[in-house]
Amino acid sequence: MAKKRKSGGRAKGSSGKSGAVQCSKCGRVVPADKAKKYTKRVSSVDPQLARELRKQGSFIPARRVTEYYCVSCAVHSGRVQIRQASERRTRGRR
Ligand SMILES: [Zn+2]
Repeated sequence: MAKKRKSGGRAKGSSGKSGAVQCSKCGRVVPADKAKKYTKRVSSVDPQLARELRKQGSFIPARRVTEYYCVSCAVHSGRVQIRQASERRTRGRR
């Protein structure tokens, strides 16, 4: 069968198995090197209240939540886009 991508859409290279992670959205089990990883800061305080408290000079700790998305969910939620061939090699934020 024809191979769509040389890497199979993964970042594994010649190393053997990579661990599996679960997609945060649909629960699918995806290889860790294939999944899209997102870290976001989540505050336990309501944003409006947090703004008020910050104005008074208090420190509000925010947790870091790491989420993994399978390729389907990453595309569906707009976190990754289909890009032109010339653009595909660029990484990170644009
Ligand atoms: Zn998913």
